[in-house]
Parts: sequence; structure tokens; C-alpha cells
Amino acid sequence: MLRVEIGDLERGPVEISGSVAVDDPVLEDVGFELAEAVAVSGRVSMVTLGRFFWRGRLVTEVRGLCRRCLAATSASVDAAVAVMFAEGKDPDDPSQYAIGPGAIELDEAVREELILATGPYLLCREDCKGLCAGCGTDLNKRSCDCQPPTDLRWAGLQAMKTEFEE
Ligand SMILES: [Zn+2]
Ligand SMILES: [Zn+2]
Repeated sequence: MLRVEIGDLERGPVEISGSVAVDDPVLEDVGFELAEAVAVSGRVSMVTLGRFFWRGRLVTEVRGLCRRCLAATSASVDAAVAVMFAEGKDPDDPSQYAIGPGAIELDEAVREELILATGPYLLCREDCKGLCAGCGTDLNKRSCDCQPPTDLRWAGLQAMKTEFEE
């Protein structure tokens, strides 16, 4: 558990340097597999009484499915985090995290920020063409006969143009 005591934060910013293990329950069902522990760093500081700001980094290696073509892939994640912890936080406000009794616990924020950050990294390659929306063909391997989706406004213009020319 990555914890920062409120008492310490009241005296000044606290440097964070730790990790969350691959098999930590807080990382269960994140939607991808972690190839190594998540390195957590940065600094937590008090903004005002009851409000704290963590600016730092999450670094890890993940395995999962390419978000375009669903091929198995792995990626290095190096994500900047900038999150707010607030006492009595509004439960409907996802941009803030709650504060535990007497301390800030970073684990839940690590989980959420890692999920947010990892999506863009999971690509088999930068220019992956993905799957055809019509027939599901992997467009990296072959092309298909599906027509590109027709823009209806353009079709309308085409029709007018044809009529005009006739
Ligand atoms: Zn892909
Ligand atoms: Zn197709």
C-alpha cells in the first residue's frame, strides 16, 4: 500500500518512490496484463487544508490486445499523472480521489490512472490499420471488398451535379 501520512504533508511536500506489484489486488481486472510491477514516483503536496495534489509518473510494461486489430501485443507505459485528493470528495466527481483516515492512499489512483494511460499505448504498431468495420478482415494482412462508408452529404451533391450536367 502506497501511503503518505497527512501529518507529513502538513509539514511539506513528500517525494514518492515505490511500486505496486503485478499481483496486487488493486490491479485485478484492469483489462490488460502487467509484465512487471508499476513503478510509482513523483511528489505529493498540500494545496489547501484537506486538498492534496500528486504529480508524478507511472512506468510499467503491459501485455494486451491491440486496440485497433485485437492482436496480442505488449507496450511500455510511461505516463504522467496529475491528480487531486480531497477530503469529503464528491463521489460523482471522477477527477478527484478520496482520502483515507489520516493518510493518502495512492493505490486506487494508480489503478485508475494506469487504465486511462494504457489504452493509447496498446497498439501492435503505430500505423496499425485495424479491422474492417464491415467484414472484420484484418486490414494489416489483406484488403477486403467492402466499399468505404459513403458520406451521404457527398452522395447528395454528386446526384445534384449529375442532374445538372444532364
Ligand atoms: Zn493492431
Ligand atoms: Zn471489409
